[in-house]
Amino acid sequence: MPEISYYKLRYKVCEFPECNVIYKGTGYSKFCQEHRKPEHRKIINKNNKKKKKEIADEHDIPPNIIYKHNFEKPVLAINKCALCGDEFEIMVMPGIFVYPVYCIEHRNKWKRKRYVSEEPKKEDVEDDS
Ligand SMILES: [Zn+2]
Ligand SMILES: [Zn+2]
Repeated sequence: MPEISYYKLRYKVCEFPECNVIYKGTGYSKFCQEHRKPEHRKIINKNNKKKKKEIADEHDIPPNIIYKHNFEKPVLAINKCALCGDEFEIMVMPGIFVYPVYCIEHRNKWKRKRYVSEEPKKEDVEDDS
């Protein structure tokens, strides 16, 4: 990974349903400022359940999503794979609003299918990366 000056900035995508705002996040924050308010909690909990079910049902939700931002410079943001939840980086470019929702591994449709069908026993998988 080359060292770039904006690398340290932690931009994240709000996980609130249909929000998709990219905000400057720290640590474990998952939501933009608006959606960190307690009144949104219910919807978030409900959505988490729904999301899991949707993935199990279809495992083929669109590979891209539109993010809202008004950056004038390229910015490195942290996104979470819609399938496995792993964090991956996206380079958010000025004027470009469509970005992948899957980590590099799961941008491949067949790997997504396999992931869903293999899901139950994760402990058996040896990870030597
Ligand atoms: Zn939000
Ligand atoms: Zn993934």
